[in-house]
Amino acid sequence: MPMKTVLSIPGHEHPHPREVSLDEIRLTLGDCRLCPLWETRTNIVFGVGNPYARVVLVGEAPGANEDAQGIPFVGRAGALLDRVLEDCAGLHRSDVYIANVLKCRPPNNRDPKPDEVEVCSPYLREQIRSIWPDIIMTLGNPATHFILRTDLGITRLRGMVHKTGHFAVLPTFHPAAVLRDTHKLAELETDFRLLGQLVRGEVPLPAEQSVLNTQEE
Ligand code: SF4
Repeated sequence: MPMKTVLSIPGHEHPHPREVSLDEIRLTLGDCRLCPLWETRTNIVFGVGNPYARVVLVGEAPGANEDAQGIPFVGRAGALLDRVLEDCAGLHRSDVYIANVLKCRPPNNRDPKPDEVEVCSPYLREQIRSIWPDIIMTLGNPATHFILRTDLGITRLRGMVHKTGHFAVLPTFHPAAVLRDTHKLAELETDFRLLGQLVRGEVPLPAEQSVLNTQEE
């Protein structure tokens, strides 16, 4: 199967913010077979939530539960995400929009390959442009690296609000990583408290673009 990299919605090749609906993007995605992950998926996991959200949460790729149900962040990681959203940020899942960089599950939950990210990420880009949130919260290294265009590790980037283009970006751990290492739970909760403060205007959104090194020191 040859790789294609361009997502094109007829008549909307250069859509302005909020010009294209999530339904149009989902329609364009269709039964996508642009990369080999279609062969092993059960369901495409497009995204879920409020199409007018001020906050978009971005994860890496569907896991087994997500693949089975076609919904991002279900199972134990999803329950933890819902809990910190509500308890720490004062938000409900229906207040935000949740999507992954990859829409199909990599076999055995392996890391996304660069060519898979390249071919699938236009869908996420279009989703973000459709919703046009103020804040993007990235969950884990792959999502953070994709959004912030950096190779710096999540432990260096979390706990701070970055800015790229229009968006404030708040990186934190992936909830599944916190389930594997509960020492990270306090930091996850801190980051979600900061998310709530940003949404309520108690902490200002950054004005300056972030300048990040692209390599770990
Ligand atoms: S991962 Fe993305 S590009 Fe690959 S088949 Fe699924 S939807 Fe298409």
